[in-house]
Amino acid sequence: MKTTVIGAGAAGMMCAILAAEAGLSVTLIEQNERLGKKLYITGKGRCNFTNVCEPSEFLENVLSNPRFLYSSIYSLTPKDTVSLFESWGLRTKTERGRRAFPSSDRSADVIDMFRDRLKRCKVRVLLNTKAEEILTDNGCIRGVSVTENGVPRTIESDLCVIATGGISYPSTGATGDGYRFAKSSGHALTELSPSLVPISCLEEYVIEMQGLSLKNVGFHIKSGRKEVYSGFGELMFTHFGITGPLVLSASAKAGAYVGKEGTTAWIDLKPALTEEMLDARLLRIFEENPNRDLKNILPELYPSKLQTGVLKASGLDPDLKVHDLTKEARRKLIAVTKHFPVTLTALRGFNEAVVTKGGVSVRDINPSTMESRFVSGLYFIGEVLDVDAYTGGYNLQIAWSTAACAAAAMAEKKEA
Ligand SMILES: Cc1cc2nc3c(=O)[nH]c(=O)nc-3n(C[C@H](O)[C@H](O)[C@H](O)COP(=O)(O)OP(=O)(O)OC[C@H]3O[C@@H](n4cnc5c(N)ncnc54)[C@H](O)[C@@H]3O)c2cc1C
Repeated sequence: MKTTVIGAGAAGMMCAILAAEAGLSVTLIEQNERLGKKLYITGKGRCNFTNVCEPSEFLENVLSNPRFLYSSIYSLTPKDTVSLFESWGLRTKTERGRRAFPSSDRSADVIDMFRDRLKRCKVRVLLNTKAEEILTDNGCIRGVSVTENGVPRTIESDLCVIATGGISYPSTGATGDGYRFAKSSGHALTELSPSLVPISCLEEYVIEMQGLSLKNVGFHIKSGRKEVYSGFGELMFTHFGITGPLVLSASAKAGAYVGKEGTTAWIDLKPALTEEMLDARLLRIFEENPNRDLKNILPELYPSKLQTGVLKASGLDPDLKVHDLTKEARRKLIAVTKHFPVTLTALRGFNEAVVTKGGVSVRDINPSTMESRFVSGLYFIGEVLDVDAYTGGYNLQIAWSTAACAAAAMAEKKEA
């Protein structure tokens, strides 16, 4: 059966190889001049290609529609991915948090592995070729119209896989064409928003702290009285607000609340200390330094860039003598340390987002095959679907697993 896979990213390359190995005649088309442009920049150039956890734990780290992925994650588990890549000649290693990488720390080696494998199993790869339209006939796939190096033509196909990714990091080819294809063939789309993305903040003192990186802090978001995010880890201040692993996770879990009325957020600068412990510590520092200015004892508690932020957020006079500090002033310092306020104004844009939240509605896709419920022979895999997860290798595993699931289903169709 003639199969066209659109998009030579993570999902498309995996699907093309597995389908070809199962005996299908596969053409892989990619609008870019090279394979895996986004894969190349993953994991800061090291490619955190999976998280070697059990499928149940994997699903706990998927934020949108984890149940939809139940079948596919079992068709290629994270452990299977590691074994498969090793069998294809990639040496791998697993680091803290079970994050798997190529041993060389080079994402380029993952792409080379795919290039080599595509060649071995005789997938026809067409670069500089853009899919323009999916051609259907009576609810079945007929082909794909493309422009190859600017020249239009039709690729006849019995099966077609859409692996065009989302719209984050558009410079890698994430143009959102897959959404257009899905819509024109009758599929619903859920709202798109940037996820795993930095967050802009209102306060000037936050911006003034740009360059400061805090490890082991708490970050909390509330909507009214309900806590919608609570996490612990690393956070950085930038020229627009905040970023870092903790903030990216918060954007993925509670991004919908950012910029909304009734949303409050704060950083716990000393999560290991209770308010009572902090009070005792402050009292001791104050007793030892009664004649110093407040600003001169803060280095005992906070790194230098944070001291100005704490003073501004608390509204305390930096030149106040310690012996003049009231109980109320001490209470303010404790409040700011445990609840350092940040007003989250907006998520940064798709240009800076690791993934796109939302996409082709999973209600219109068969979770056991990734096939469209409306067009026979049409499959959707990877980030184009309304599925997304936390950082840590989970998003690439979604690409591998949905690709393997579709390839297996197409192979079965061939046998039937
Ligand atoms: C900076 C960054 C770092 C990341 N790091 C990690 C990480 O370490 N671990 C992890 O798990 N996830 C990571 N991710 C997320 C991960 O890269 C994506 O989830 C994954 O690449 C999605 O795979 P995909 O195949 O669905 O889409 P993509 O990899 O985006 O591939 C889609 C391909 O389709 C092509 N295409 C689109 N439209 C057309 C068309 N009309 N015709 C022809 N071709 C077309 C595009 O050019 C592109 O090559 C990272 C993302 C970013 C942006």
